[in-house]
Amino acid sequence: MPERPDDICAREQPLPRSSTQPLSPPIQLSTVYRCESTAEAEQLLGGAGEGYVYLRDGHPNADLLAEKLRKLHVADHAVITGSGMAAMSLVLLSQLEASGHVVVSRRLYGRCLQLLTTEARRFGIDATVVDADDLAATVAAVTSKTRLLVVETLANPTLQVADLSALADIAHRAGALLLVDNTFATPMVCRPLEHGADLVLESVTKMINGHSDVCLGALCGTQNAWRHVEDTLSTWGLSAAPFDCWLASRGLATLHLRCRQANRTALEAANFLTGRAELSRLIYPGLASHPQHALARRQLLEGFGAMISFELAGGRAAVDQFLGATPLPFCPSLGEICTTLSHPASTSHRSLPPGEREALGIGEGLLRLSVGDESTEFVLESLERGLEAVQ
Ligand SMILES: *Cc1c(COP(=O)(O)O)cnc(C)c1O
Repeated sequence: MPERPDDICAREQPLPRSSTQPLSPPIQLSTVYRCESTAEAEQLLGGAGEGYVYLRDGHPNADLLAEKLRKLHVADHAVITGSGMAAMSLVLLSQLEASGHVVVSRRLYGRCLQLLTTEARRFGIDATVVDADDLAATVAAVTSKTRLLVVETLANPTLQVADLSALADIAHRAGALLLVDNTFATPMVCRPLEHGADLVLESVTKMINGHSDVCLGALCGTQNAWRHVEDTLSTWGLSAAPFDCWLASRGLATLHLRCRQANRTALEAANFLTGRAELSRLIYPGLASHPQHALARRQLLEGFGAMISFELAGGRAAVDQFLGATPLPFCPSLGEICTTLSHPASTSHRSLPPGEREALGIGEGLLRLSVGDESTEFVLESLERGLEAVQ
């Protein structure tokens, strides 16, 4: 008897057989997997054995991406999350509980600061915000309840370099963990775990994916910092979608090439901007004029990163003239294939009172350049066009 159309439509069709394996990883969108037996289901759902059952608990596209990031960071473990912020939530939810305490750098990404202070307080977790460049102040902020110290490798937008091994010592002496947001560096430029950090966070949305079409995060860590992480990831629903992971794996395949190109151009652009009369300030860790240049040389691997910040002496008016004349797009993110510019005072730091902004070194004239992969000549010409328009 021929199969009924309803059954042809609705029944599972076995995958075509193939003795060969695809070279490019398939996108595996399935939310659920067939189990051979009750015993297998129990085993897999209990975390034993190899295999997948339910997408939120884990899927091949997330694991492929996580494994590359785990190796790049020389970590014991790695997971992919639905965004960089989901990775930060994952740390908070897995490592802290009510009456715990966190010490956070005041230069963290705005949403991270909000999460670790305002949001965390709603759950009975206290936060002390410190200037993490001031090691004595950081030591003083740590208490017997401190579970976590949080800093960025290269701070946004003023590119302070965190002294990771000193900060790891401070955290460890208090029995706390050091979490490093490494988004501005990427694992090509810094591997915080090698400097004593316990956990490292990446917003994969930025340079790791690099193609401005995915929002994802990653958390990598050492064995001793991995308590609860994978359970928390699934229970709080922080996991990532397969298609996004697949896209990001494709992005990561050229991370090393994009980083090399961007780092090289960034150093040339920083040299090009050095001494220009239109500028009142120029910040790049690769310049000898950077206050932590020696630390940057010790701690950063391949070049000094793709981010440069500079202040136009003419303030906001000069910024508008510059942005009107340069072909570089003004968009408030970073790590894209193309070179972009951001203006922190009107974007990432707009909600801070002007006084606080100034105290962080973010004036109306400050521009942040995220160098991409065009020719170095194009980037320098584009900066020149902007500078020429500044009166
Ligand atoms: C973008 C960013 C985040 C947040 O990542 P999302 O992927 O946007 O959630 C965290 N930290 C830094 C430094 C960032 O630039």
